[in-house]
Amino acid sequence: MRRWWQGLRERRAIERRAIPDELWRSTLAHYPFLGGRSAADIDELRRLSSLFLDRKEFSGAHGLVVSDAMAVAIAAQACLPILHLGIDAYDGFVGIVVHPDEVQVRREFTDDDGVVHAYEDVLSGEAMEGGPIMLSWRDVSEAGESSAWGYNVVVHEFAHVLDMADGVADGVPPLPSAAARARWLDVLGREFEHFQQRVDAGHDTMLDPYGAESLEEFFAVASEAFFVAPHDFRDEHAALYDLLAGYYRQEPGITGLM
Ligand SMILES: [Zn+2]
Repeated sequence: MRRWWQGLRERRAIERRAIPDELWRSTLAHYPFLGGRSAADIDELRRLSSLFLDRKEFSGAHGLVVSDAMAVAIAAQACLPILHLGIDAYDGFVGIVVHPDEVQVRREFTDDDGVVHAYEDVLSGEAMEGGPIMLSWRDVSEAGESSAWGYNVVVHEFAHVLDMADGVADGVPPLPSAAARARWLDVLGREFEHFQQRVDAGHDTMLDPYGAESLEEFFAVASEAFFVAPHDFRDEHAALYDLLAGYYRQEPGITGLM
């Protein structure tokens, strides 16, 4: 009975938030890492995107009006990581705030001597537990081109959402068993340490050097490349590619035309 009811509710939400053919086609064309997926993946992505649009609330900052095309572009990219995890994985938040461009924020930290340091930080997105998710529209809209170097702000922030589903942002999303968790920490931890060494040594890296900040940023940065530049990512980080393929239950590197 409950399953039947859920199915009915989902069907109604998908009808209510049906994405027009023309808009869906132009979204896929604008973001080749979406358009290049298999027909089955694209159908599922469209279904999940409608559910996403039904469950989430978009708002624009600084007078930005979030059009249907913008909301669909965000929804479709956000649903890529949950293609085989299901929409419930995003139940922990509702709001998405879209800024026209990157956001400057003032940060403060206190050093070991108790001295407070203030500095300016520039954000293209931010995810907080319970929401809202902040995104820079400029970065979202340029994701087709920036995928060449493995960059994708939407995937990055939604990887943080998945990571935080167990209440802590630590680079470890909820996993099915203690053994899976141990394996995760082993593989991700080893790759992270190696990556940090390469960044510290000034080497050019396929992944965004920002990933060297912490294990949670490394997971988010690796997820970006996994979805938008899977071949380069697999060549460079085979063990990590396999780990993420297991977690996300998909292999972007072998589907469709990518
Ligand atoms: Zn991050």
